[in-house]
Amino acid sequence: MVKEMLSRTRIRRKLRFARTRLREWRMIAKGLLSTGHPILAHIIPMRRCNLSCAYCNEYDDHSKPVPVDQMYRRIDRLASFGTTIVTVSGGEPLLHPDLDPIIQRIRQDGMIAGLITNGYLLTAERIERLNRAGLEHLQISIDNVLPDDISKKSLKVLDQKLQLLARHAIFQVNINSVLGSGVKNPEDALVVARRALELGFTSTVGIIHDGNGQLRPLRPREMEIWEEIMSMGKRSFSRFNQFQHNIARGKPNDWRCRAGSRYLYICENGLAHYCSQQRGYPGIPLEQYSVEHRRREYHTRKACAPRCTVSCVQQVAMIDNWRAPQTLKPVAAPAAEPEPLVQLAGVGLREES
Ligand code: SF4
Ligand code: SF4
Repeated sequence: MVKEMLSRTRIRRKLRFARTRLREWRMIAKGLLSTGHPILAHIIPMRRCNLSCAYCNEYDDHSKPVPVDQMYRRIDRLASFGTTIVTVSGGEPLLHPDLDPIIQRIRQDGMIAGLITNGYLLTAERIERLNRAGLEHLQISIDNVLPDDISKKSLKVLDQKLQLLARHAIFQVNINSVLGSGVKNPEDALVVARRALELGFTSTVGIIHDGNGQLRPLRPREMEIWEEIMSMGKRSFSRFNQFQHNIARGKPNDWRCRAGSRYLYICENGLAHYCSQQRGYPGIPLEQYSVEHRRREYHTRKACAPRCTVSCVQQVAMIDNWRAPQTLKPVAAPAAEPEPLVQLAGVGLREES
């Protein structure tokens, strides 16, 4: 019975993925032809989170959900820019009472819908609702095998949720594990990645900065684990991504960050920022954010780029890296080094492994 359900779900997931993949290819073609639209936007429907990971600077424990009408206006505005993918993030977006209509609105507006969650609130019924809303990608980060003082995003706690996803989700599921500074047991990343593949999901690995926000090369064993996980996703986009190789070796990257233009981070207050780690730049209300702003940011060099680990922005930038050198300076300069952060792999740009 369970086997039958699993194979039915996998077929439905493959069908939805085939449609999403077709739209992603169209997105890449459109992105190559024109530089005038955002490729990926993260939108925050609420800052509150039910967890409190020690390394995280993206949550609080009290804020209210953004009213759904405001979320609709922001989503419609992103659609009017020609945005291709909108990923709902947080805080914990599953705490928002109107998450399903928010996802529906993204789809109705013709954009690809993604979700980043800690997974704690998933149930079979909640996953079925996400299916019906039209969700296309979901990502969960799992930081360790057993919960500790730093993070409760553990395989032990979340494995049951992963099994529910394998049984019910017809959207793509990516499991992100982490390596680097502050991760006590690097072997955990391997356990998490293997479990993800066993359940039919894709797997990525993120690298954490040290406590000063500096890139630090992975240690030899961490590097072996990182290589092994990268080789698991045989058709993974990130396999071809030199950025990630440099980050793992603690080397700076030479690239053109198109945040504020091809990538947008829309906070709970409706302001457009470069990314989660450079909030406040440019920090302009989305309704006032114009094509001129986006054009300017496209050509603006970001001082934080060489040591950045925000991989979703780096993946988006690959479409344009060969063109349009950046000659402008930020109107208000962002910090030279990002704050300590966790790399967020790019939901919406992953291939099925
Ligand atoms: S990392 Fe995610 S789950 Fe942890 S506190 Fe931050 S938003 Fe919440
Ligand atoms: S931290 Fe990374 S993604 Fe954010 S603005 Fe700097 S270079 Fe771009």
